Amino acid sequence: MTSPTKHLSFFESVNRNFDKAAAHTSIPKGLLEQIKVCNAVYEVTFPVKIGNQYQVIEAFRVQHSHHRLPTKGGIRFSHLVNRDEVMALAALMSYKCALVDVPFGGAKGGVKISPRKYNERQLEKITRRYTTELLRKNFIGPGLDVPAPDYGTSSREMAWIQDTYSTFKHGEIDASACVTGKPVAQSGIRGRTEATGRGVYYGIRQFLSYKEDAAAIGLEPGIGGKTMVIQGLGNVGSYSGSISQDEGGAIVIGVSEMEGTIVSTSAKGINIDKLIKYRNEKGSILGFPGTKTLGVREDWVAIECDILVPAALENQITISNAKRVRAKIIAEAANGPVTSKAAEILTKKGIVILPDMYLNAGGVTVSYFEWLKNLSHMRFGRMEKRFQEQSLRNMLSTVERLTGHIVGDKEKDLLTHGADEIDLVRSGLEDTMVNAYDEIREIFKRKKSIEDLRSAAFVCALNKISGDYIRLGIFP
Ligand code: NAD
Repeated sequence: MTSPTKHLSFFESVNRNFDKAAAHTSIPKGLLEQIKVCNAVYEVTFPVKIGNQYQVIEAFRVQHSHHRLPTKGGIRFSHLVNRDEVMALAALMSYKCALVDVPFGGAKGGVKISPRKYNERQLEKITRRYTTELLRKNFIGPGLDVPAPDYGTSSREMAWIQDTYSTFKHGEIDASACVTGKPVAQSGIRGRTEATGRGVYYGIRQFLSYKEDAAAIGLEPGIGGKTMVIQGLGNVGSYSGSISQDEGGAIVIGVSEMEGTIVSTSAKGINIDKLIKYRNEKGSILGFPGTKTLGVREDWVAIECDILVPAALENQITISNAKRVRAKIIAEAANGPVTSKAAEILTKKGIVILPDMYLNAGGVTVSYFEWLKNLSHMRFGRMEKRFQEQSLRNMLSTVERLTGHIVGDKEKDLLTHGADEIDLVRSGLEDTMVNAYDEIREIFKRKKSIEDLRSAAFVCALNKISGDYIRLGIFP
């Protein structure tokens, strides 16, 4: 038993959640141990010449579970990166992939640098050198381990990784599948950049589609009109906010970034697209028209709202500030933003937590689609789009002939549109998020002893991973 006030490390917190959920399964102890541990941890230091000086850079790649290959997980650039954090994030990736039926083991990478301190050329140098180190130890490859973007990295870094890999593996036909989250022009897939945020939106919307679950926390069903506060306006936070706003009708009333926290002074809320443009121009969210700045940045956590979206980093809601939360739902867009002990305080207060391993799984889901696209060497929709459109046109003209009603051009275009890559990606993502939530909810409702949605999500993931081990014959 750990003391209720002792702060746990990130990996300890993940494992505490694991243990809580494991008690609700019939998985044998040895197998649970095998699932829990990290299968391979690679820690490396390498020199990079920055200006006239050499800097020694510390980096990691952790493959949490080899029950399915390749392993998969993002690469983080942050001065806070450490071994425990990368292990925790890799473990979460295994559970996440199992939960959304993406056939990968979990992995994660981290480079301990503050990206803002380097220019583009220097970052390219560091990224390429890190990739070379991964290659030397067989920690990257389409069938081995496939990185993706995470905190502090984007499609730009993924393009450098792919190029470095392809240089060393000249002629390897599937080389482009060595990394996902690449720019579309460099073998990426449409819809990957927005995927995690879009998945967050689908997840919140699905939770709120159940009238009785919404009513249990005093809300009407549906995301429309719900107030939202976001911490972190990076890739995940910005798309979670803008898509919830534009497609779901949510109202963003507060945003927190490194420079401070702003709250809306009008009922319309904060337009996220305009705020991003403003921040790009001014270098700060502070002073955005129609908002005021809170005196203390950390007070984002206490803003009264329906949905609180931590989308920055882990350990943001802890036993120190959990009591201050005044939201009905915490939507974990980031990985590990609520510590396991804080979650217990929040659950007691009747706050629903939509767990990270489910809610931010949109990124890895679309990464899976990208990997499949790279292996098939063909864009989704290329074979069937025109055939589909011609069939729909034929059907429509038959209906027009039989009914004598002529459909207008605009409506005709809409009715005969064949699916493009982006349509298929969004459809596949939506289907994945809806089905995964319903699976979690079914377990949560069926087993009354399960305390929260996170434990239900863990039970779901653990049953799938243990099933894989048993099928492999490793644990008969
Ligand atoms: P990002 O680097 O694009 O954005 C993170 C943002 O958070 C930055 O703008 C940063 O300034 C801000 N931030 C950091 N600390 C803060 C603080 N204390 N207060 C307010 N703002 C702060 O990173 P991202 O890719 O959006 O990732 C965010 C989280 O989502 C991470 O936990 C990551 O692991 C998780 N995640 C990302 C993806 C993905 O596809 N990128 C997928 C799944 C999960």
